[in-house]
Amino acid sequence: MTVLEAIQKSAEFLGKKNVESPRLQTELLLAHLLKMPRMKLYLNFDRALTPAETDALRELVKRRGLREPLQHIVGSTSFCGLEIAVNRHALVPRPETELLAELGWQFLLTINYQPSTCLDFGTGTGCIAITLATKCPNAKITALDISPDALALAKENVAKHNVAGRIEFLQGAGFGALVHGERFDLIVSNPPYIASAEIAMLQPEVRDFDPRAALDGGADGLDFYRMFAAQAKSFLKPDGKIMLEFGDGQADAIKKIFADEKWIVEGVREDYSQRARILVARRE
Ligand code: GLN
Repeated sequence: MTVLEAIQKSAEFLGKKNVESPRLQTELLLAHLLKMPRMKLYLNFDRALTPAETDALRELVKRRGLREPLQHIVGSTSFCGLEIAVNRHALVPRPETELLAELGWQFLLTINYQPSTCLDFGTGTGCIAITLATKCPNAKITALDISPDALALAKENVAKHNVAGRIEFLQGAGFGALVHGERFDLIVSNPPYIASAEIAMLQPEVRDFDPRAALDGGADGLDFYRMFAAQAKSFLKPDGKIMLEFGDGQADAIKKIFADEKWIVEGVREDYSQRARILVARRE
């Protein structure tokens, strides 16, 4: 079987399994297998796959057909241009979250004393913490997560990006894990924000492979925002800011939650598909 034939056959199979963009997904799996950039496949359409390559591709395509995310199969994803290892213990980093990281590093770079400090609440793979540390050489980041397995993955990622000296890991269920009186310039979080009853309706890639604890935001999806609005102020410096990602359609409810707790809501930022996505707020 040639590369082109393998792509066509696998894409047809994934299409039948309702995988989105089946041809692209197939090409990415094959490029991973053959260790070449996807575009190079196009120069190799006529190349014959060896029997071992054919078997290996069949295995990968079968997994994708069972709706295992591409990122889990290839073992990593790209976040703000950095390669981040992923597994079942942490949410797969999403492109929308790159905007949160970008707003975070832009703010940290305006701080003119050293070190600037940031709490990444629910660090997961560590993608946000690592990006901030990479972009802001004077920043110190505390990466907090409730899951020891997620933290193990985050530590692995941090070690690969040479920022280990500036990221401190903390395991715990929330602000209670921090030293009382500790204050940050910035708190960032991409908390779980799916309403519990809606999880069953998500794509299998998300529902069955992202950790439930990384998705479930309680009955209306807003539990974490109420918690942040009530508790985060005492962990922020007077000029500090909080930046939180949230889901489609949640902007007004979250603005109200923060206004009710006497925060100054600086604004809500839209993602690249013009959906309100990030809350930026500061203490009164
Ligand atoms: N901070 C991680 C991310 O943005 C994990 C977020 C989560 O688990 N909800 O990818």
